[in-house]
Amino acid sequence: MRALLLSDIHSNLEALEACLAAAPAYDVVVNLGDIVGYGASPNEVIERSRELGKFFVRGNHDKAVCGLIDIKDFNPVAALASSWTRNQLTEENLDWLRSLPQGPLQIEGLSDTQFVHGSPIHEDEYVVNVGDAVAPLLVSPITITFFGHTHLQGSFTLSGDHVEAVHPAYRTVGQIESSQFPLKKDLRYLVNPGSVGQPRDGDWRAGFAVFDSDAGIVAFYRVPYNLKIAQDRILAADLPARLATRLAAGR
Ligand code: ZN
Repeated sequence: MRALLLSDIHSNLEALEACLAAAPAYDVVVNLGDIVGYGASPNEVIERSRELGKFFVRGNHDKAVCGLIDIKDFNPVAALASSWTRNQLTEENLDWLRSLPQGPLQIEGLSDTQFVHGSPIHEDEYVVNVGDAVAPLLVSPITITFFGHTHLQGSFTLSGDHVEAVHPAYRTVGQIESSQFPLKKDLRYLVNPGSVGQPRDGDWRAGFAVFDSDAGIVAFYRVPYNLKIAQDRILAADLPARLATRLAAGR
């Protein structure tokens, strides 16, 4: 089975459309959360995401926007974007956000694989570095965990008691590229497909991944998108300008 993995779209419709246009054939779409927050097209991104399938886990921004958690823990820019998003969303889309499941999610046909927003230990935990990855890799009984939340594309591999971080290497800064990451049997993995709508690894291109469970390969992708339109929408919506400029920097 081939699963298209989308995470942290953050209301960036232009980035989402570019990923869908560049994606190879897939059987299912799995969305790892933070569908909304930051960007200027929340209703459009929810509706497009819902058309793609039924596999979702909720992100912290999804929870904040629909009132499941308090925005007092958010930084001022994120909190402002969250209230703006809440005011934009239709009642139906707010209800839909509220109904999203908490991970870990497992999917029939993808054995020994689970999907979370933050980590298998806690849905809002950030797995940024090797130190963060140790406990989730040791504790989880499942071999492959796909996660989001950090907006950093790459993987953590547990081999014996050693954890190694791998970030895909790309050759350009402006073209569609992919990087194959074959999974070895008997090792345990935490894999982040990257953020569709707000990458933070210094590469402005939208990130996603495709997991081919039969071949045991994760293909990471980076895709240029119409950054100018996404930025103009943010500025026209009177969202903080920082949310537009950071997209160009990939930070
Ligand atoms: Zn996010």
